[in-house]
Amino acid sequence: MSTADFRVGFGYDSHRLVPSAGSGAIGRPLVIGGVLFRSEVGPRAHSDGDALMHAITDAVLGAAGLPDIGELFPDQDPRWKGAKSEVFLAEACRLAGERGWGIGNVDATVVVERPKLGPRKEEVRQNLARILRVDPAVVNVKGKTHELDGRTDDLIEAMAVVGMVRVRG
Ligand code: MG
Repeated sequence: MSTADFRVGFGYDSHRLVPSAGSGAIGRPLVIGGVLFRSEVGPRAHSDGDALMHAITDAVLGAAGLPDIGELFPDQDPRWKGAKSEVFLAEACRLAGERGWGIGNVDATVVVERPKLGPRKEEVRQNLARILRVDPAVVNVKGKTHELDGRTDDLIEAMAVVGMVRVRG
C-alpha cells in the first residue's frame, strides 16, 4: 500500500457540563457517542453536545481533507437545527466516501469525571460502529478521568483518531 492509500485524521471536542436536573437546570441530557447517560450534569451546547461524536466527525473530515464540523454544519443553518449528532457523523462519512475514503479504524478517548463511561463503553462502541457502518472490532473507545483535585466545574473532552483507507480511486 502506498502512502496515498491511507490517511489519518484527528478530532477534539469539549463541552462544559452543568446541572441538567432539578430547578435551574441549564444543561442538556448527557449523550456520549449517541448513548444517553443518566447524569445530574449535562453539556451546555447549541447541539446535543455529544463531544465524542463531534471529535470522531472532525477526525473523519480531517482525514478526507474536508472542512471541519463547524464549517460544514453551522449552528445558524436551519437544516441542522436540533439535529442529532449522528447525522453529522453519517454525513461526514458520506462525504468522505464520495472522495473515495472509507473508515479503517477509530480510536477515541473520552475524558470525563462523571458519570463513569466503563459500564456502557460497549454500548457506545456498538452504536458508533452502526453509524460508521463498520465492524465494531475496528472501533475503540477508552474512558479516562481528569484526576484534577478541587475543580469547580465539570468538563467532558473527547479525542479521536481515525484511519481511513482508499476504497476507490
Ligand atoms: Mg461539540
